[in-house]
Amino acid sequence: MGDCIFCKIANGEIPSRTVYEDEEFRAILDLGPATKGHTLILPKEHFADFFELPEEKAHHLMDVAKKLAPKLVSRLHADGLNIIQNNGAAAGQTVMHYHLHLIPRYENDGANLLWTPGKMSDEELDEVLKTLE
Ligand code: 5GP
Ligand code: ZN
Repeated sequence: MGDCIFCKIANGEIPSRTVYEDEEFRAILDLGPATKGHTLILPKEHFADFFELPEEKAHHLMDVAKKLAPKLVSRLHADGLNIIQNNGAAAGQTVMHYHLHLIPRYENDGANLLWTPGKMSDEELDEVLKTLE
């Protein structure tokens, strides 16, 4: 993926503020952070999104997230943390190289990451459930 910026960052061709690295993943500080400590975990190999990420890598990724999330919270004295991952433009993905967002949260930080609850009838919910059976 010659022109993928996250391939270059993940493999060290473009410098980044790296908070964690192993043979398969690099975690970096987001350049446009939603809050202080907003971190992205990137695979070194190119996968566009969650659907392309192989299962073993997804397991390893969760191990990395389990290490980093508590560290972000304790070192930065955060009050909470969002784990977010966007797949596809419709879902808000802007960089088409898989990345997991770890976003420390602080009381009244004003970061606008949550949705307004919608409404769905019992029939509609049952219809969705049927589709997923
Ligand atoms: P997405 O919307 O694709 O889920 O998230 C892309 C994220 O990558 C955004 O939070 C954006 O601030 C961050 N980002 C985009 N380009 C760069 C970059 O060159 N370096 C770093 N560190 N973060 C970037
Ligand atoms: Zn890439």
